[in-house]
Amino acid sequence: MLQVEALEKSFDGFMAVNGATLKVERGDVVAVIGPNGAGKTTLFNLITGQLPPTAGAIWFKKENIAGLAPHRVCRKGISRSYQVVNIFNRLTLFENVQVAVLSRRRKTFDLFRPAKTIAVDETRRILDSVGLLDKWAMTSGALSHGDQKVLEIAIALGNRPELLILDEPTAGMSPEETAVTLRLMKRLSGELGLTILFCEHDMGMVFSIATQIMVMQQGRTIIQGPPDEVRNNQQVRDAYLGG
Ligand code: ADP
Repeated sequence: MLQVEALEKSFDGFMAVNGATLKVERGDVVAVIGPNGAGKTTLFNLITGQLPPTAGAIWFKKENIAGLAPHRVCRKGISRSYQVVNIFNRLTLFENVQVAVLSRRRKTFDLFRPAKTIAVDETRRILDSVGLLDKWAMTSGALSHGDQKVLEIAIALGNRPELLILDEPTAGMSPEETAVTLRLMKRLSGELGLTILFCEHDMGMVFSIATQIMVMQQGRTIIQGPPDEVRNNQQVRDAYLGG
């Protein structure tokens, strides 16, 4: 589904991504791990079009999407969430997801119809699928941090992605919130058949859900493979997992 080849991103000569490779098959749950500054977020920004690459290719469903604008990448079927929560704080949960659904349908609000009657079924279904339906009328800024991160996933689902990219989905979460998010990701992958690419520092979480792990260091891919292969790789143990 996704193949990243020899990808590079230079910031004034500093190579934040320096020849990274990545392969994501349909149905995979792929974790990208590596120390702070390894280039994980930059890699995601390159895939989703937030940044143009300096060199390399990003094949998504056999098309090179490197350098496409974010909204075009989104229309191709890739949605993402951010490390720092990115929602409309003053809108309700319902409205936040509704905006995403409408933008996918390329529709704006109809002046003659009450906003709460538009795209209702799909918006409700998405909120239900992430476990936030009972809070649909709340102002999003009043949610707990954990619920805000889950709402961001719901907004991403409004675009009906084939590939969902999550940048540190459990960052700043309590152990309980982390467990809820882990269950949600397992459900999105299992029941909805979504392909997921995420980066994460919580190794317990990574090894309990990932079908593939890619290890990044200094902008490069050290290894990509199934969890057991990565766990037993001496280079990874020395550099990252602590011997
Ligand atoms: P990670 O997500 O693995 O922590 P990042 O992709 O955020 O790593 O950052 C990789 C490196 O690129 C870091 O050294 C960071 O300081 C640098 N970097 C990231 N974005 C920029 C930018 N816009 N300008 C300059 N340097 C950047």
